[in-house]
Amino acid sequence: MRVIACGAGLTLVNVRSGVLGGDLPFTMGHEFGGVIERLGDGVSSWHVDQRVTASFHLICGHCVWCASGRETLCANLGGVIGASMDGAFADYVIVPERNLVAVPDGLELGIAGVASDAVATPYHAARARARLAPGQRAAVIGAGGGVGVHMVEVARAFGADVTAVERDPVKVDRLRELGLGTAILAEDGMTGTALADAAGGQFDAVFDFVSTPQTIRQGVDALGRGGVLVIVGASTGTADGIHSIDLINKEKSIVGSRYATRAEIQKSLQLVADGNVSVHIGARFDLPQIQDAFAAITSNAVFGRVIIDVCEKS
Ligand SMILES: [Zn+2]
Repeated sequence: MRVIACGAGLTLVNVRSGVLGGDLPFTMGHEFGGVIERLGDGVSSWHVDQRVTASFHLICGHCVWCASGRETLCANLGGVIGASMDGAFADYVIVPERNLVAVPDGLELGIAGVASDAVATPYHAARARARLAPGQRAAVIGAGGGVGVHMVEVARAFGADVTAVERDPVKVDRLRELGLGTAILAEDGMTGTALADAAGGQFDAVFDFVSTPQTIRQGVDALGRGGVLVIVGASTGTADGIHSIDLINKEKSIVGSRYATRAEIQKSLQLVADGNVSVHIGARFDLPQIQDAFAAITSNAVFGRVIIDVCEKS
């Protein structure tokens, strides 16, 4: 693929510092959009110049998890493009045929690249893990983050009544301006009961993009009967103070959610192309200015995702 643009976020800050492992150094970049430049031997279902993005998981395609539609659990994961091996902050990136996802006409390739992760990950969390349904109540903890804001968008597109929870007052204001639901400033030590009270009721689903001991406990306590806490954000903490009787009597669930399938990426791109989900881009940089991009991400100054423009616009 000739790379046109590639998204960047906090994940890559952690990749680059070595926290997430991988055999450093390598070229990062996993949320890319571009154009097929050349086909490998035997590739027949794609053509040169086709506009594409891709799943960045090198799945095997034949294990029991891949075969049952749960490819994010692939038993033979061969690596993560741009996060454990060379990726798309480069003129070209090599992608296996099975990873490609076509970009709908009219959808800008940089936006498609960001959506392939920052919208698709929430789509998987909402559809596959929370089984979110119209009319349900959902909360997003860490809603001002680069993926969190898209979780708010996706939950709303699923027909849920969404509460956005965020600890940065500036980002709370931005969330209020978007008008996607209720936005609540998360104060230190805020309990789940206080959160539910502030939001006007308990939740059917809570999506946690922070995943500290405090937010996990808050999320569980804010759930109503049959509610699901979906852990999406990565953190190394554990949570005390979750009561088994509460989980039993109210049949609450705590589940994890990892990335998205290729089908979910495709559906996510379509939601964006159809105008049902907006992609929020806080800043764009050309590839030579990528250090400035990482400075902006690290300082938490950006609302939404950052796009790195690699080649001329397409
Ligand atoms: Zn597999």
